[in-house]
Amino acid sequence: MSKTDWIQQEIDALKSQGLYNNIRTISSPQGAWLTVDGKKVLNFCSNNYLGLANHPALVAAAKKSLDEMGVGPAAVRTIAGTMSLHVELEKRLAQFKGVEAAITFQSGFTANLATIPVLVGKEDVIFSDRLNHASIIDGARLSGAKIIPYEHNDVKSLEEQIKANLSQYRRALIVTDGVFSMDGDIAPLPDIYDVAKKYDILLMVDDAHGEGVLGKGGRGIVDHFGLHGKVDVEVGTMSKAFGVVGGIVAGKAVIIDWLRQRGRPFLFSSAVTVPDAAACLAAVDVLEDSTQLVDKLWENAKYFKAEMKTLGFNTGVSETPITPVMLGEAPLAQQFSRELFEAGVFAMALGFPTVPQGKARIRVMISASHSKDDLNKGLEAFKTVGKKLGVI
Ligand SMILES: *Cc1c(COP(=O)(O)O)cnc(C)c1O
Repeated sequence: MSKTDWIQQEIDALKSQGLYNNIRTISSPQGAWLTVDGKKVLNFCSNNYLGLANHPALVAAAKKSLDEMGVGPAAVRTIAGTMSLHVELEKRLAQFKGVEAAITFQSGFTANLATIPVLVGKEDVIFSDRLNHASIIDGARLSGAKIIPYEHNDVKSLEEQIKANLSQYRRALIVTDGVFSMDGDIAPLPDIYDVAKKYDILLMVDDAHGEGVLGKGGRGIVDHFGLHGKVDVEVGTMSKAFGVVGGIVAGKAVIIDWLRQRGRPFLFSSAVTVPDAAACLAAVDVLEDSTQLVDKLWENAKYFKAEMKTLGFNTGVSETPITPVMLGEAPLAQQFSRELFEAGVFAMALGFPTVPQGKARIRVMISASHSKDDLNKGLEAFKTVGKKLGVI
């Protein structure tokens, strides 16, 4: 018996349930087509919604910044690691999103870990959508506040929980994903805002999959619903549609200032590198210049989803370019993904615990970088594999 035997047993159990993560390696730039484990395949996996991950303007900006400013920030933000590019990026993001102020983090994950604990603590309560992202759950746990889940996208359930619990706590926070990444549905933010206003509760939305996707020219869920000035905190990421890396928190100036004083990932971990910040700035430029990429993304998404429905697939409740193809059990989803790969299409199978038991699926991520011909090739592969496996 060794001390790590139990770990091997757990891993073996994952394998036998079809839940083991087989991680593929990409050896080409991100784009509509990828080289994956040495094979050229159509990319239906990445969060590269707008094709910015290998956009010439971002690459050029990153290169230029390297020549002028070097690579690393070499300290945490509060000591000597705040470079002019970080400050400029925060200013531009605040303008882009139409908020008083913005602060950036290493990732969307750390943005949530920073934000929730500065807003609520041990004497407080968090009302959290049952399907919120893991980083919201971890941030909520770190805060020490009581976490009360409400039913997914169910404003009645939210209000019931508030009525039953609010009076026992000092302060409260309502937190929801903007776009839910496994199903592609959108939080009913105007109704959630009404409840937050009625009970005078802070409202936070994590718009990781809405940044660069929803709203005018990709300005996010708050813009999508016209809720400017009403949502207290918007968390976002620059690792998805922005094509780079980094987290954003945007909102009231007082909250952003408070995060600079107390946000632990800001105080105790260094910022993104020089080329990251420069590339993110270039992404803001691209988005402000034209809505063309965002428009193309939505055109592609609408076409693909309509065609998948016509083929007889169940694409769930998605309202965004995220297209789940519901299959049920995890082994079927994994087999479907393997067959697609053989047919030259790279689309991931998602199973428990990423999605609930029995709700395994293939998740197709549509991008503006796909041509109509790419989408048709993908549809053809889904049709062939779907028939072979008896799904359609
Ligand atoms: C992807 C995602 C994150 C994490 O963003 P990173 O920048 O990759 O750390 C956080 N929240 C939600 C809702 C996400 O979908």
